[in-house]
Amino acid sequence: MTEHRKVVIVGSGPAGLTAAVYAARALLEPVVIEGIEAGGQLMLTTDVENYPGFPDGIMGPDLMAKLREQAQRFGAELITADADRVDFSEHPFGVWVGSTEYRGDALILSTGASARMLGLESEQRLLAHGVSTCATCDGFFFRDKQIAVVGGGDSAIEEALFLTKFATKVTVIHRRDELRASKIMQERAFANDKIEFLWNSGVEEVLGEHTVEGVRLVDTVTGAESTLELAGVFVAIGHNPNTDLYKGQLDLDDGGYVITAPDSTATSVDGVFAAGDVQDHVFRQAITAAGSGCMAAIEAERWLAAKEHG
Ligand code: NAP
Repeated sequence: MTEHRKVVIVGSGPAGLTAAVYAARALLEPVVIEGIEAGGQLMLTTDVENYPGFPDGIMGPDLMAKLREQAQRFGAELITADADRVDFSEHPFGVWVGSTEYRGDALILSTGASARMLGLESEQRLLAHGVSTCATCDGFFFRDKQIAVVGGGDSAIEEALFLTKFATKVTVIHRRDELRASKIMQERAFANDKIEFLWNSGVEEVLGEHTVEGVRLVDTVTGAESTLELAGVFVAIGHNPNTDLYKGQLDLDDGGYVITAPDSTATSVDGVFAAGDVQDHVFRQAITAAGSGCMAAIEAERWLAAKEHG
């Protein structure tokens, strides 16, 4: 079965759904392939206190439910399934969902990124209950508490430095005895007396029933075990952009993120736009993703209008 649409949006986090609101209000009748795990990374958070317009905060899943409702109110069609394959080599562009082929005059890619996780059952269970992947989002909840950051790259050090504003002590837990982070970041962290380092250490388990109470560690050299009492654990071991589907079809950077033109959501394929974390490894905020979703819809609309008028 083939369905033709003016705009096909792949992904349904703040970027995709904001693009859907704007595209629908521009009468472009978008279809959103929202994925089986619709809603993106906000579905894995609890309180969101920094999204403008919600002075009392809002739960991540509630915010996504509202955005979804808003997109549907203007006629966006939501398909709760994963896109299996795309083809940008022909126009209209192809997006396959099972046996249905969507052909889009313009495409907006907003499949986001996923935080790399340690892969522990306890980490999953306590995610958003003391385990976090976003210091900017959750640091505020750890005022005057002791917390840890896992990782040794720029993200981990940046998060550790940021978290010293709130926490009494931040322990960086790294699996080796040397950081991967840039020298300047390392120097800043070494000079900060609220930051401590636990070298050659791996997190074996996050302790606590309903909230984080500590971590069980293993020395990666000697195998010795120890525990550390903590109120929070920030996992900062990198992100993976969800771009496997697009490999070989448009330009990706070395980290696998979609490359967009400066001040634009235009990708290397004319008529294909990208918004949100799939093309942003710097800001990674719901509001910046929503902002770029808006940009993508406006750019898609203008691109379609220009094409129509020759
Ligand atoms: P990254 O550079 O890939 O570092 C990931 C860190 O996590 C590494 O130290 C790695 O350990 C550790 N790690 C990976 N998997 C692990 C696991 N399963 N268990 C324990 N530790 C694990 O990722 P990133 O820090 O997110 O940075 C990504 C890119 O963005 C980099 O190019 C970075 O420079 C850039 N960035 C820049 C800034 C800035 O300039 N302000 C800020 C953030 C990010 P090993 O070292 O042992 O591999």
